[in-house]
Amino acid sequence: MSFSALGLSDQIVRAVTARGYTKPTPIQSQAIPVVLSGQDLLAGAQTGTGKTAGFTLPILHLLSQKVVKRSPTGKIPIRALILTPTRELAAQVEESVRMYGRHLPLTSMVIYGGVNINPQINRLRGGVEILVATPGRLLDHVQQGRLDLSKVEILVLDEADRMLDMGFIRDIRRILALLPKQRQNLLFSATFSNEIKAFASTLLNQPVLVEV
Ligand code: AMP
Repeated sequence: MSFSALGLSDQIVRAVTARGYTKPTPIQSQAIPVVLSGQDLLAGAQTGTGKTAGFTLPILHLLSQKVVKRSPTGKIPIRALILTPTRELAAQVEESVRMYGRHLPLTSMVIYGGVNINPQINRLRGGVEILVATPGRLLDHVQQGRLDLSKVEILVLDEADRMLDMGFIRDIRRILALLPKQRQNLLFSATFSNEIKAFASTLLNQPVLVEV
C-alpha cells in the first residue's frame, strides 16, 4: 500500500516522499481512509507509531479540497483544531503540519502557554486554518475574544489519555462547547481507561475504531 493509494493528493504524497517515508505505517494505513471518508475516529496508538501523520495528512487533504474565502473582516477561519497535552507535542505536531502541507496553500499556527501571549495575538489577527494548541492557553485567547471556533470542521484530541491525566477535562469541555455541532472528531489515545471510553462516547459520533 502506498500513500497515493490511500487517496492522498499528489502535493501531500510529494511532501511525504521528500521526508523519506516510502510506505504508510499500520496506524496510517488504517486511519487515513477513515478520516478521508469524513467519519469520526477512535484510534489507539502510542507515540512512535506514526500517528501524527495519521491525522495531519488526511486533514491537509480534506481542507485543501475546499477553498474557504476570507470573511469580510479579512480573516481566514479556523477549520481544524488540534489539541495536545504539552507544548512540546503541540510544537512537533504543528511542524509536521507545515512540513506535510508545504505544497498546499493552507496556514497553520501553534499556541501554548508559558510564553509571551503577544506574538500569538499578532499572528492570530491574520487568521489561520489549522490551529494546534494546548487547552489552557487556547482558552486564554478565547476569553480575550480573539478566537472564533465556530467554523471548526475537524477536531483532533491527540494523546487524549494524557490530557485527562493532566486534568484538562474541564478545559476541553469548555472548548467543545464553542465548536459547531456539525464537525468531524478524531481521538487518539495510547490507553483506553474507563474514563477515556466514557469521554470518547460523549464526544464521538459512531466512530470507527482503529488500534495498532
Ligand atoms: P509519531 O508517532 O507521529 O510521533 O511518529 C514517530 C516517528 O515516525 C516520527 O519521527 C516520524 O517522522 C516517523 N514516521 C511517521 N510516518 C512514517 C512513515 N510512514 N515511514 C517512516 N517513518 C515515519
